[in-house]
Amino acid sequence: MNKTALITGITGQDGSYLAEHLLAKGYAVHGLVRRASMFNRSRIDHLRSPGGRTGRPSVSVERLVLHYGDLADLTSVRRLLRKLAPREVYHLAGQSHVGLSFEIPEVTCQENGMATLGLLEALRDLDYPVRFYHAASSEMFGSPRSGPQNEQTSFNPVNPYGCAKAFATQLCRVYRSAYGLFACSGIAYNHESPRRGENFVTRKITLGAARIAAGKQSVLTLGNLDARRDWGYAPEYVAAMWRMLQAKAPADYVLATGKTCSVRDFATAAFAELGIKLKFSGRGTAETGRRTDTGAIVIRIAPRFYRATDPSHLVGNAALAKKALNWTPKVTGTAVARLMARADYDALMSAM
Ligand code: NAP
Ligand code: GDP
Repeated sequence: MNKTALITGITGQDGSYLAEHLLAKGYAVHGLVRRASMFNRSRIDHLRSPGGRTGRPSVSVERLVLHYGDLADLTSVRRLLRKLAPREVYHLAGQSHVGLSFEIPEVTCQENGMATLGLLEALRDLDYPVRFYHAASSEMFGSPRSGPQNEQTSFNPVNPYGCAKAFATQLCRVYRSAYGLFACSGIAYNHESPRRGENFVTRKITLGAARIAAGKQSVLTLGNLDARRDWGYAPEYVAAMWRMLQAKAPADYVLATGKTCSVRDFATAAFAELGIKLKFSGRGTAETGRRTDTGAIVIRIAPRFYRATDPSHLVGNAALAKKALNWTPKVTGTAVARLMARADYDALMSAM
């Protein structure tokens, strides 16, 4: 069996865990990386150089190959598909920040919407069978009236990011039925890890908590503490992506824990992991989080971190993934907060 996979977005959080997952299963893994003025490969360095950043040995330098390319340059991606003939393509690349999608809506829609269509067109022209994973998102549901959401819930996105993902997901369905393409969308709810981008609220909180616990920062400024998310653990989600492409038939699956917690709960758990008990006072922009031992304010609220519109009631029902893929996520919400806070604190201490 040809175990060759191409990952777009290999330098991102999910791409790095997926590369580990596929290498451990014996795949030859090819990753698309875009040119940046500084190297942007810190999440996969440990896979490429023995004893890299994490000190862990390389899984296999020979079976992991990086190629320059960009979603804005689909000719380069077409060329790679012809040259490598991967049997599985995991399309994870794109502008992944919902809040920023209000600042850069055109790039967000180009990368998450039109580039996915371009990739589908490229796959349609191939003369070998290929299986395609598309990284869809719970943000497509926007502010649903009912919950938990499943594969039948209608899309009602409330931000440019969700609109672009809904466009691409529907196109995957069209290419599946019109051309028989093995295309699957993982409708993933938020999944986090110590490799999460630093401007997502979870990582911002755990990095802030680690710095405050180490005496390197005094206050962390956040937005809407009442926002709730169905937060899972990224390594468990990449396992589901792989399972989706091993199934008999292509389908879309909700990937979710089915539980939510608030930003306030997440922060409380992250700080508690590092020995700081928080007490919140007030509501809205007047709210603060204080250390119970010293009374010092460690969390403040600033209107600039509020969203123009913020999805509510996002919680997923992953019953289909459980039944068809035997996939059940185990690490949820506050447990994710604790493991991320511990990892950030340990990394900070070892760098000091
Ligand atoms: P991430 O950490 O932001 O990684 C995004 C990846 O896309 C990075 O490798 C980035 O490269 C690459 N990329 C962005 N624009 C590109 C372009 N024009 N050309 C080539 N590569 C480009 O995101 P993630 O958390 O791993 O998420 C992976 C995918 O799942 C994304 O599509 C995201 O929208 C989707 N998703 C994520 C979640 C979640 O909770 N994590 C939930 C639902 C859906 P650089 O390293 O160079 O920036
Ligand atoms: P998203 O679900 O993909 O938008 O992930 P984020 O981590 O960016 O945001 C999750 C929720 O946290 C959203 O409802 C935000 O409004 C809320 N939030 C509260 N404070 C902040 C903050 O300081 N930064 C970010 N990024 N989100 C915040």
